[in-house]
Amino acid sequence: MAAEVAGKSPESVETDRLAARLAREITGDVLFDRFSRGRYATDASFYQIVPSGVVVPKTMDEALRALAIARGEGVKVTPRGGGTSQCGQTVNDGLVVDLSKHLNRILSLDVEGRTCVVEPGIVLDDLNRQLRKHGLWFPVDVSTASRATIGGMAGNNSCGGRSLRYGTMRDNTLSMEAALADGTLSRFGEVSHDLSDLDASESVRPLFRDMLELGAREAEEIAARFPKVQRRVGGYNLDALVPRNARNNMAHLLVGSEGTLAFTTKVELKLWPVIRNKALGICHFGSFYEAMDAAQHLVKLKPIAVELVDRTMIALGRDIAMFKPIINAAIKGDPDAVLVVEFAEEDQADNLVRLKQLSELMGDLGFGWNNEPRKWGGVVEITEPALQGGIADFRAAGLNVMMSMKQEGKPVSFVEDCAVPLPHLADYTQRLNEVFAKHGTSGTMYAHASEGCLHVRPVLNLKLEKDVKAMRAIAEEAFALVREYKGSHSGEHGDGLVRSEFHETMFGERLVADFKEVKQRFDPEGVLNPGKIVDAPRMDDRSLFRFKPDYRVGELTTKLDWSAYPGAGGGFQGAVEMCNNNGACRKLEGGVMCPSYRATRNEKDVTRGRANTLRLAISGQLGPDALSSDEMMETLKLCVSCKACRHECPTGVDMAKMKIEVLAARAASHGLTLRDRLVGYLPRYAGLAARFAPLANLRNRSPLLRKLFERFAGISARRALPAFRSDVFVPRAGSVGPESGREVVLFADTFNRIYERENLEAATRVLVAGGYRVHMPRPASGNRPLCCGRTFLSAGLVDEARSELDRLVAAFAPFAARGVPIVGLEPSCLLTLRDELASLRKDNDAKAVGAHALTFEEFLVREAEADRLQLPLGVVADKAMVHGHCHQKSFGAFKPVEQVLRLVPGLEVETIESSCCGMAGAFGYGADTYDASIEMAELSLLPAVRRADQNTLVVADGTSCRHQIHDGTKREALHVARVLAMSLDRAEGNSTSTAAKETSHG
Ligand SMILES: Cc1cc2nc3c(=O)[nH]c(=O)nc-3n(C[C@H](O)[C@H](O)[C@H](O)COP(=O)(O)OP(=O)(O)OC[C@H]3O[C@@H](n4cnc5c(N)ncnc54)[C@H](O)[C@@H]3O)c2cc1C
Ligand code: SF4
Ligand code: SF4
Repeated sequence: MAAEVAGKSPESVETDRLAARLAREITGDVLFDRFSRGRYATDASFYQIVPSGVVVPKTMDEALRALAIARGEGVKVTPRGGGTSQCGQTVNDGLVVDLSKHLNRILSLDVEGRTCVVEPGIVLDDLNRQLRKHGLWFPVDVSTASRATIGGMAGNNSCGGRSLRYGTMRDNTLSMEAALADGTLSRFGEVSHDLSDLDASESVRPLFRDMLELGAREAEEIAARFPKVQRRVGGYNLDALVPRNARNNMAHLLVGSEGTLAFTTKVELKLWPVIRNKALGICHFGSFYEAMDAAQHLVKLKPIAVELVDRTMIALGRDIAMFKPIINAAIKGDPDAVLVVEFAEEDQADNLVRLKQLSELMGDLGFGWNNEPRKWGGVVEITEPALQGGIADFRAAGLNVMMSMKQEGKPVSFVEDCAVPLPHLADYTQRLNEVFAKHGTSGTMYAHASEGCLHVRPVLNLKLEKDVKAMRAIAEEAFALVREYKGSHSGEHGDGLVRSEFHETMFGERLVADFKEVKQRFDPEGVLNPGKIVDAPRMDDRSLFRFKPDYRVGELTTKLDWSAYPGAGGGFQGAVEMCNNNGACRKLEGGVMCPSYRATRNEKDVTRGRANTLRLAISGQLGPDALSSDEMMETLKLCVSCKACRHECPTGVDMAKMKIEVLAARAASHGLTLRDRLVGYLPRYAGLAARFAPLANLRNRSPLLRKLFERFAGISARRALPAFRSDVFVPRAGSVGPESGREVVLFADTFNRIYERENLEAATRVLVAGGYRVHMPRPASGNRPLCCGRTFLSAGLVDEARSELDRLVAAFAPFAARGVPIVGLEPSCLLTLRDELASLRKDNDAKAVGAHALTFEEFLVREAEADRLQLPLGVVADKAMVHGHCHQKSFGAFKPVEQVLRLVPGLEVETIESSCCGMAGAFGYGADTYDASIEMAELSLLPAVRRADQNTLVVADGTSCRHQIHDGTKREALHVARVLAMSLDRAEGNSTSTAAKETSHG
C-alpha cells in the first residue's frame, strides 16, 4: 500500500513510482503526462478510459521489462498495436504498451515453405510490401491493412474480405511466442494431446495440460453452443482445445484473446502466393432481400469474395465525379443492391469460365434483365484490372462518405459485424432493419455476403441518454436474432467492452464459466487487459464512454467558419469530434497523410493524436487553457499544415484549419514569438528587405548571424533562408497579350514575386503565347502588392490574413464577376482563395474570387480540353520527375500538373511517390523542426531526386518544395511554367532563353 504523500492520493503515488521505475529502466518513450495518456485513451470504439501511463518500448526485452515492472507495482497492462479496434479492446486503465513504433520487423522468412516470423508491431501493408517481391502475401486483408498490426490482428482474430478462401487470422497463424502475465516466455504451437512432444521441463506444460483437459471435458458443450459459421470471433477459441484432430495448436487459443491471456512477442504466419488474375461479376438485383438471399447460391462457384454494395452507396458513388465513370461502366440500370463476386484462380481462363457460370446461375435463380423488379437482375462482367481497381476504390470511398456525417448523430459500431449462416442472411437483414426502425434509426449496410457477415452501424447520438438506451435495446434485440439464427454476435471485430457482456446469452453460462477458468489459469492476478472477454462491464456504462454524461465543451472563440458542424465555437467542437479514431492517418505509404507521423511514428504526431488532444482540451479534460498551452503547441508542432488529412481522412478532419485556430488562440494569450513575426509579416517587410537585399542576406553568409538567428528567432542555423533580391517582380500596370485574347488574371504571389520572378515571367510568356490577355491587378489603394495572407495564417494572425484577403478580393472581384479566371503559380497561395478565404468571408465577391481561382495547370488543362489552347512547344528533355505540392494533392490539383507536362513533346513524366516535402512554409526553417523536416524529405522525395540523372528535369510547383530539394540534393527544381517557357523557346529555336540557361545546370 502506497504511503500518503502531501496532497497525493495513494494511486498517484503508485503511478509516480511506476513512471520513475520505467523511465530508469526503459530507453523507449515513457509517457505519463496528461496529454499523452489522453491520446491513448481511445480506439475506434466509442469508449474512453485514460491509462495511468504509456510505454513505447524500443526492444522486446524492454516491453517484457515494462510488463514485469507493472506487475510488480500491481498495475494492469494492455498491449496495443494500431489501436483500431472497434469494440474497446485497446482501452484500459493501467499501462498501455505500444508496440507499433519499434517492434515491427520481419524476423525470418522461408520463401519455399511460405512462412515467416514477425514482431507483433508490423503493419499488414508493410509486411505485404516486403513479401511482394517474393511473390507472396499474407491474405487476411482487413480494411485497416494500412495501419493494423499483426499483433493486433492476432489479438482480435481479424478477418479479411477474402476469408472465404483464406480463412481468418487463426487459420493463418502457425505459432506464437508469448509471455504470460508472470513473465514466462513460451512457444505456443502445435502439440499432441498427451504433450509427449513437449519437453518435460517446459514450464508451460501444466498450463497446456489443463487447457487440453478443459477442451476434452467441454467438447460436447462447445459443439452444441459454438456457432457453426466461419465468422465466429467472440469468446476464447475453446474449440481449438477439443481433441478433434491428432494435434492441437495452442496458438489458436491466444488468437482472438484480445491481449487478455498473454503478451505476444512473435507470430509465425502462413503465407500465400499473390493473386495474379482476377475477374469480377457484378450481380445486379432489383430487391435487396433477393441479393442477400442469392449469396448462399453464388458461393458454390467458389469465388474468393462476395461483397454487398447497396443502393445508398451506389448513389453516393454517382455523386462523386471520379467514381461516376466507374459506376457507369459497372452498374446497369437502377439496382437495389449488387453483389461483387470476385474470382481469383491462378489461370485467368478458369476465372472466365466461372464468370460464365455465374451468369447461368443468376438465370437459374430466376433473375433476368427484363423481369419484374423483384427478379430483375443479371451480371456485368469486369475483367480489366483498372476497372477492378476502380471498383475497390469506390467501395472504400463510399464507406468514407458514410462515415463523414457532420451531424451530432453518427454511425455507431456495436452490432456492426454479426454473422449468420448464409441461408438466413436475407431474413436476418430484413428483421434487423425492422429493429432499427422500431428505435427510430437506420443504417447503411455493406456485407461480406460470402460469410454472412453484415456490416451496419445505426445512426445514434451517444451524448444523449435516450440514444444510449436505444443502443442497448438494439443490441439486445439484434443479438436475440443472431441467436435465433445460430449465428455469431461477433463476426469480425471482436468483443472488447461492447460485446463481452453478452457472452452468457450467446454461449451460455457453462461456456462463460470455462472462459473465466481459462483467464484465471493464464492470468490469475488479472494483469493483462482485464474486463475484456470475461468480467466485462455493461456495454452501456456511460462512465466508460468517450462522451461521458458530464462531457461539455464551454464557449470558444474561433476565427474561422465552422458552421458546417454542430457544437461550440461556431461548430469547431463538431469538427474536432469528427475523428472516430479509425487510424487511416497512420498509413505509412500512399497519399500524403500524415507526413509527420511517417517521420516519427509517434501517436502525438498523427492527425488522430492531434484531434484527440483537441477534443480533450476543448472539453476541459486537460486542465484550464489547454487549447493554447505549451503541450498543445508541442502536439501541433510537427503538423506541417499540408491539408492532406482534409482530403484523405475518411471523416474529413482538417487539422491544418484547426491548427490556425490553435495558433490564433496562442497568439491571443501568449503573444507572438520573433519567428512568428518574421514569418507572418514577411509580405509587409519584403519590399524593404529587397531594397537592402545584400544586407538582408547577410545572415546566410555569416555563421555568427546564423547562430544568433537560431538563438533569438528559432531559425535553424543549418538552413539558408531564401535570398532576397533587388529585382523583384513588379506586376505590369496595364495588361499584356493580344487585345482580343481571352482574359486571365495572373496572381503574382509574394513568394514568386520576391524570390523567383522568373516563374511569373515564364507564366506570362506562356499565357501570352497561348493568345491570352493577362491582367495583373494592383490594389485599389496603396503600393503594397497583393497577398493571400498565407504567412499570417501560419502564425495564427487571422485578422491580418483577413485584411490581406480583403485587399485581394477588392482587386480581383471585378474580374471574377466578369468570369475571368484567376490563375496562380504557388499552390498554397492560390488555393488559399479556394479554402481559407471561404472560411473568412461569406460575401458574393469572396465567393466569386474563390470560384474563379485556378492553379496555372488547372487553367491550361481546362483550356486544352475546351480546344482553346495552342502552344507551339518544342523538346526540352527526355524525362521530368515531378513532385506534387501537398495542397495540390489535397485539392485534386495535381493531375493537371502531370497533364500539362505531357503536352511537352517527347517528355516522359514520372511522378515521385512522395508525401509532404517537409519544408512546408516556415516549418523546415525552425531550429526545433529542422530534423523532422529533413526526415520527412528523406522518406521518399530526396532519395528519388538523387536517383534522377542530370538530364532529367526535376519539377516542383511549391516554393518550399524547391528549396527543400535544393537543400537536400543541390538540384534546381523548376516550376511547370518554366518548363513550358523553355519548351516554347525550343520550338522557336531560341535555346539560350533565361529559363533554359538556368535549368541546364539543374
Ligand atoms: C474502419 C475500420 C475497418 C475495419 N475493418 C476490419 C476488417 O476488415 N476486418 C477485421 O477483422 N477488422 C477490422 N477492423 C477492426 C481492426 O482494425 C482490426 O481488428 C485490426 O486487426 C486491429 O489491429 P490493431 O493493430 O489496430 O490492433 P489494436 O486495436 O491495437 O489491438 C487489438 C487487440 O490486440 C491486442 N494486442 C495487440 N498487440 C498485442 C500483443 N503484442 N500481444 C497481445 N495482445 C495484443 C490488444 O490488446 C487488443 O486487445 C476495422 C476497424 C476499423 C476502424
Ligand atoms: S484523423 Fe481522420 S484518419 Fe485519423 S483517426 Fe481520425 S478520423 Fe481517422
Ligand atoms: S495537415 Fe498534414 S501534417 Fe497536419 S495533421 Fe493533417 S496530414 Fe498531418
